[in-house]
Amino acid sequence: MEIENEYIELEKAVSRQNGTYSNDKFHVSEKLRKFLIKTGSPLVNYTDNAETNKENKFRMKRTVADFIGRSWTKGIIPYIFSKDLNYSWKSAAIRYMNEWEAVTAYRFVPYTPTVHAQYGLGHNSTLIFVQKSGCWSNLGKSSENTQEISACGGAAAAHEIGHTLGLIHEQNNINRDSYIRINWGNIKGGAGNQFKIASPVNSLSFDYDYNSIMHYGLGDYSSNGLPVMTVLDNKLSYLVSEKYNTDYFYAAYEAQLTLKLNETICKDFTITCHNAGYLSYVDGKCQCRCPFALNPADGCQTLESKNEDLFWPMDSFAFLKPIQGCPKGFTSGSVKRFKDHKGLASTVTSNFHAAGEYTNLTFVREEFCVKDKTLEGSQSEKTKWRPGSYCILRKNGKCPEGFEDGSVNFDDHDELGTTTTLGDLPDGTYVNGTRLEFCCRNDGVHTRPLELPASVPFTLYVGSSGLCQAVKGDYTQ
Ligand SMILES: [Zn+2]
Repeated sequence: MEIENEYIELEKAVSRQNGTYSNDKFHVSEKLRKFLIKTGSPLVNYTDNAETNKENKFRMKRTVADFIGRSWTKGIIPYIFSKDLNYSWKSAAIRYMNEWEAVTAYRFVPYTPTVHAQYGLGHNSTLIFVQKSGCWSNLGKSSENTQEISACGGAAAAHEIGHTLGLIHEQNNINRDSYIRINWGNIKGGAGNQFKIASPVNSLSFDYDYNSIMHYGLGDYSSNGLPVMTVLDNKLSYLVSEKYNTDYFYAAYEAQLTLKLNETICKDFTITCHNAGYLSYVDGKCQCRCPFALNPADGCQTLESKNEDLFWPMDSFAFLKPIQGCPKGFTSGSVKRFKDHKGLASTVTSNFHAAGEYTNLTFVREEFCVKDKTLEGSQSEKTKWRPGSYCILRKNGKCPEGFEDGSVNFDDHDELGTTTTLGDLPDGTYVNGTRLEFCCRNDGVHTRPLELPASVPFTLYVGSSGLCQAVKGDYTQ
């Protein structure tokens, strides 16, 4: 488009002057002016923290992002971490890049001087994760060679990466007045722009998603503590506050619109996705992404079958044995060890499902299910442990790919009796105290279900999120 360069120049000028576009401040061609009017206010401040907006850049709406080709070519996003990024921000960035990759065709690739050429991107844009005041991101791919994202340390990173992929805030959705009311009188001075409706150009197919990670909280930007937004159907208000527990269902659809999967990597995909399902790139292949419990294999038209065709990963590992016994193909073992404080019974909660003895006054007996990778058939080779927040027990000296090692030492009271072991056990030491070796990961959110053979019970340990990892199908906590 011929006004593209002019647009880019205008954006730079606006950014330098730290102001928004207005016709008296910036001289633009008639064609660009008409475009700016048609698309609403195209240079919009997309910061998410009004308190600390010194770092703000002026961001563009998604409609404009599409117009000037601001989607990431081939869905590839070269990125780099700035040196000052602390551990918590860096791990959040990794976790939520993984999350977006898990449900979309976007791929975040570490920056190298040759990475743009290697993927044939035709640009040199690189995303830089920085640690600055506020949480903010550019909208879509910038025309500059580098663009910063200050993604913050927690789940906010999912939201900011959403902006990087081109998503606007849900409350700017053109349909929003049918779903929420904006209480303009409660909005903090200067923040009104955050609640303007986006232009109807390239409006989204889905009506409104209260649950979107791109939706502000109802009280954000309040000047007086009263809600800035009110959900018209009050009983649905809870959806907004639980936004980070979603599976990015509609957000992932919207973020991929500019990738045109059906013309690119999924052009040979022939299944039509029904019932609000959509074509996506999940687990490394093109498939329908369906609403909960519908079957991707037939285009979301029937209920998904049980997990009987799932297999355990082709790895060695162990977990606490559930009272129902070990899954097929596992061996079992137990450890009986004496406790340091004689006479104080351990307690277990009423919904404790591990086999063994835990409430004896003098000893505990733990039972384990152990899987040796050599025992499993070749069909399971395709199954891998997925990102999440959970731990398993180590077996055969090495954690499966994606996990980190760790251990727990129990100071057993060996004077009361000798530790006795039976059968097959996880890695550890069982004399002079007990040391259990764990494999843990915290590279995904606990709410995204793992696909494991859940037709029989098994156990996972809680990861550092402190919350139980979801597993597809039946499970207990
Ligand atoms: Zn935002």
